[in-house]
Amino acid sequence: MPLGISYVCTKMAHMTMTTTMPFLFPGRGLARALLAPVMAFVCAVMMAPSLRAADTNAPASAPQPAGAEALPDLSARKKPPVIIIKIDDLRQIDGKVHGLWTKCQSYLKERNIKCGIGVICQTLAEATPEYVKWIKSRHDSGEVEFWFHGWDHASYKVDDKPFNEFVGRGYEEQKKRFDDSQKLAQEKLGFEFATFGPGGGPGKGTFDADTVKAMQDVPGMKVWLYPQPLDKQGEELVAKGKVKILDRVWAVNLESKVGVPDFKAFIKGYAKYPDREYFVLQGHPMSWGTPERFAEFARIIDFLVEQKAVFMTPSEFAATLK
Ligand SMILES: [Zn+2]
Repeated sequence: MPLGISYVCTKMAHMTMTTTMPFLFPGRGLARALLAPVMAFVCAVMMAPSLRAADTNAPASAPQPAGAEALPDLSARKKPPVIIIKIDDLRQIDGKVHGLWTKCQSYLKERNIKCGIGVICQTLAEATPEYVKWIKSRHDSGEVEFWFHGWDHASYKVDDKPFNEFVGRGYEEQKKRFDDSQKLAQEKLGFEFATFGPGGGPGKGTFDADTVKAMQDVPGMKVWLYPQPLDKQGEELVAKGKVKILDRVWAVNLESKVGVPDFKAFIKGYAKYPDREYFVLQGHPMSWGTPERFAEFARIIDFLVEQKAVFMTPSEFAATLK
């Protein structure tokens, strides 16, 4: 029996015992104890087909008991994957690192899991000693690579049409955003970024040909957390030898919608790519403020630990690529 169903049934048997049984067998502890496994079995037989049906036919939004989904068949994967956790949008808020960031980092740190954190650099200009100290200590631990996620991550409008930060504003302006950010990082944090990942927003696309040129021209930029599967312009950039690209598999991610970690969606995608060596998993810890969302994130991480995944920072993994 799949683990999830067994869990639900044990739970239901327990609930039945603790709610119904006292009326039927008041005070008869032994009768209750003997009946529990019977109930669990009956429940398993009755529930299994309906749960399986619910799994395949129910709309995604239908409520399901926690842990009820059976895992897809994962036996086709022969080697644990490399996982690059790409978590976005760190910026200073009220002089501090927000508690949702420290919560997420504690979870990963306790499990010795490495990750990459995307920094929005504008607030580095007014960085407090507290903010700087936190970034530096995580950086110095070797567990976190801080990478360049943009200057302000703001969209802008031309003729009422929205554009994301690294789209359509020309090479000079884009390169200035790289250069200003690198300068501030060096000044405040004592290191430059080696990795870039452009920010999204309401506009179409997250980078353009000028961004590709900037990646080639900014000396410190070595790795691109590509926001999509590798394409022709990415291949051409990589062929020049300076920049390595870690691309994305859309179906395999921490979040199914921006800001919403989703274990079920993750596992469904994960099962479809047994031969893929690595996955870049994107997430937004500032959106994980509810216990449910954080629990889904934690569940994905725990599953990957079970899978013996190898967690690496973007630069570490890029260094293994030919
Ligand atoms: Zn972002």
